[in-house]
Amino acid sequence: MSFFATRNVARNRCSCCRQEGHNRTTCPHDAATATSLREAYNRTVRSAIRATREELSERRIARPLIQTRVEISDTEAEFRANVAHQVRNMQERLAALQIQGPPPPIAPGPTVREVKIQEILFDHCQEIPEGLYKELMDALVIRG
Ligand SMILES: [Zn+2]
Repeated sequence: MSFFATRNVARNRCSCCRQEGHNRTTCPHDAATATSLREAYNRTVRSAIRATREELSERRIARPLIQTRVEISDTEAEFRANVAHQVRNMQERLAALQIQGPPPPIAPGPTVREVKIQEILFDHCQEIPEGLYKELMDALVIRG
């Protein structure tokens, strides 16, 4: 569509003055005016070409940004690999737990009653035979 539109516009330009709407046989301009109009048109075309070239070279300058984006995606790939590794590790640990059963519960500390009895025994250790004191203290730390 735009290709044919451009062609039609180009075809409709006068080859003498490069203006639209007539051709060289119907050109209303004298040779000097036609030449200056043609040169003005050519300058416009050249500056349009230059602008396009500059735009293209700017895109070429912008290429390092794309490179950076590639580097980011590399880092992202590393990040994803790391996360995948962590997930695998957790899955393995979870599977191991499911096979072995839950880890043994942490032994609860002595109860308030046991601590109180230990204190009484400690306070009266001189009054109790040494063998009995040791036996009672050991009995208080037995866990079922
Ligand atoms: Zn003309």
